[in-house]
This record gives sequence, structure tokens and C-alpha cells, in this order.
Amino acid sequence: MGDTTDFGFDTLQIHAGARPDPATGARQTPIYQTTAYVFRDADHAAALFNLQEVGYIYSRLTNPTVAVLQERLATLEGGIGAVCCSSGHAAQIMAIFPLMAPGCNIVSSNRLYGGTITQFGHTIKRFGWSANLVDFDDLDAVRGAIDENTRAVFCETIANPGGYITDLDSIAAIADEAGIPLIVDNTSATPYLCRPIEHGATLVVHSTTKYLTGNGTVTGGCIVDSGRFDWSKNDKFPSLSQPEPAYHGLKFHETFGNLAYTFHGIAVGLRDLGMTMNPQAAHYTLMGTETLSLRMEKHVANAQKLATWLEADPRVEFVTYAGLPSSPYYERIQRICPKGAGALFTVAIKGGYEACVKLVDSLEIFSHVANLGDTRSLVIHAASTTHRQLTPEQQQAAGAAPNVVRFSIGIEDPDDLIRDLDQALARAVA
Ligand SMILES: *Cc1c(COP(=O)(O)O)cnc(C)c1O
Repeated sequence: MGDTTDFGFDTLQIHAGARPDPATGARQTPIYQTTAYVFRDADHAAALFNLQEVGYIYSRLTNPTVAVLQERLATLEGGIGAVCCSSGHAAQIMAIFPLMAPGCNIVSSNRLYGGTITQFGHTIKRFGWSANLVDFDDLDAVRGAIDENTRAVFCETIANPGGYITDLDSIAAIADEAGIPLIVDNTSATPYLCRPIEHGATLVVHSTTKYLTGNGTVTGGCIVDSGRFDWSKNDKFPSLSQPEPAYHGLKFHETFGNLAYTFHGIAVGLRDLGMTMNPQAAHYTLMGTETLSLRMEKHVANAQKLATWLEADPRVEFVTYAGLPSSPYYERIQRICPKGAGALFTVAIKGGYEACVKLVDSLEIFSHVANLGDTRSLVIHAASTTHRQLTPEQQQAAGAAPNVVRFSIGIEDPDDLIRDLDQALARAVA
């Protein structure tokens, strides 16, 4: 497609980035199952290796199937470029890698996916990086946590499992004041419910494993660049603004302008870290994106119905879902995700830890898995699984206390889901 600015989301989720295969006319994007690409001649090869010409060299860096997905996700998020990688966690490392150096830190929300708390709290220290996790509802605390070595602010649009919604606009203003980028993990909202760049985000990261693919088949991740950050406005981002020794002193920002971050992600990030998405995974995720809006509408409608039903049930203590008027984030969600609060929520069950475990074991349609964003309804007891590595304080902050279970509501018939919940609650809460 040519200029896509006038097309609606439902059109772009099918067509953005894709065109009939120039070699065969194949309508669906082929899976380019190849490692390498033949150079036209030695000059062509040299130009590609010098980054003077854009093209395909080797699939650790670029692949035509993956490139279609990159263009599609950049378009859906309203960014100018994207880099896909092997998982959501890879995307997070890839996202901060160009910004960091030993001794640098990020300031992050303390309401995060459990694995991200572990990645930021422990693993990145091995690179000499650190993360300062704070309460993002306390804007003074966020401001106060930023120091001269902070290189990014990080948060999730909808933080699972606590039913938390980040005030993206206020956080973006703080990052802007400090001259550093805001990175938003938009996995739980998807670009259908929220486009963080419109709220001031510099970069958007995804676990494409979840709603973007949508049916629990492949792991993948993505970083979308807004193209709006001036990497040369201060001296904090030398990887982008200063000569790159591994490319004969090339300056990414000077050479590639607002595409500098995306080019760096491919030419240095994927080349040297190798967290590459494979073309099969890109294919599954492309299939998923084609129906994203249809699925999200149904996910949200089902979640709203089930959360409302559960909140009224005497066996339930409380439900944390921003789509319920009882949520402290009910007003905020209208501004951040006006099309709906997503399809994840946590439920506190009367009877605590034991009742939660029994509930999870008694559900029949819901699968007990460590995943979310599937067409199937899923349930997990976070305190005994995904958030098991965290301290009790961290569990509480993340909305994963021992008496709560997290639901990821699928797109089945909601009445069947309610019947299943009803019988399982009967067994769990005597
Ligand atoms: C799943 C998830 C991740 C990690 O993604 P993987 O693909 O499992 O590596 C990060 N953030 C959020 C919000 C997630 O749901």
C-alpha cells in the first residue's frame, strides 16, 4: 500500500507493511525461510555492509517476513520504525541497550509483569545497569528517582495482574523534563486499545507472544520507535549521537535522522545480541494482527461481563479491573484506553491461598497456564507461580497477593465462562 495515513485501524491491521509477493504474486506474505540473500555483485555487498544501502544480508539482522511485521506494528502504533525480536523480554533488553552504559539506570514503575521485575531487579545488574522501581501514582517520587545517570523511564499501559493503569501523559511529561525517553510496555492494551506514542511515549515495547499473535502459538517481541526523540540534544546517548567504532565511526543520529534508533536496533542490537525473531514466528503474528480489533472487542466485552458478575458474587472479596466503576482507575482508563480496560483482572477469593489453589484446579474451560492474551480463557495463581520469586512486599505491590487469582479472559461464550466460574467457586469456597 502507498500512503496509509488515511486508512482506519481495521484496514491497517490487515494491509500495513504487506504487498503481493513481487516474485510470485502470492497474496499472503510468504514465509521467507532463508538464512542468507544473494548479493547482486561485490559493490552491492559492500554498500549493504556499510549501511549505505538498505537490503537483506543475513536473517539475524533482517528477513522479509519479519520486515512486514515490523512495518505493520510500527504503523498500528503510530511509530516510524520497529525492530522485532525473539520474545518480549528480549525486546526489553534490546529497547534499553542503545541507551545504557555501565553505571546507568532506568526509573521504572513497580507495577510490572513478574518476569520484568526479576529482569530489572536482578539480571540487568550483570551488565552494570540498574532499575529504580517506584510507585508511578506518586509523580514526585518518579521525579525524585531520576538522577544524572538515568537513561529511560519505563512503565506498562495496563499493568497485570493488579488492574493498574498508568497515567502515561503525566509520566511522559516528567521524562521529557529530564531529557530522557519514556518506554511503554503496551502488551496488555495492544495498539487497538491504546497508542502510547499519542500520550508522549518515545518507544513502545511488546510481547507479541500475547494478544498480537493472539492464540498462544509463538513467542516474540517488538520495539516501536516514535521517531520523535532528539538523541543529540544532550550527551546522554553516545551510542546514537557519537561515532560508532564498529561501523567506521558512523554517527547513527546524524546519518539516519529520526530512524537512528531503529537502524541501531538492527545494525548493532540484532547483529551483536542476536535476539532475532524467526520468520515462522513473524508469520503467526502477522496472522494474529489481521483480527486484532475483532478479538480485542470481544475480549473486552467478555472481561467486562465476567468482572461485573464476579464483583457481585458473595464468594468474592474484590475484583481489580479498571473497567469497573469501583476501580480507582475507572476515570483514568476512559482517558488512556477509551475502548476498554483490556481483558486481564485479578480476583480476591474468600478463603485465601487454599481457596485460590482449589479454584484454579476446579475450573474446566479456563486453563491454568503462565500466559495471557490467548483466545482461550486462562487463569493463574500468581503468588504460587509467576510472582513466586518476589518478596511478599513486591507481590503486594504487583497486585499478586496470596489470596488473588489472575484471569485472562478469552473470546468464548461468556455464559459458558460464568457457569464454569460458578461451579469452581462452589468447590473452592465452602
Ligand atoms: C509476557 C509479557 C512480557 C514478556 O514477554 P515474553 O514474550 O514472555 O518474553 C513482558 N511484559 C508483559 C506485560 C507481558 O505480558
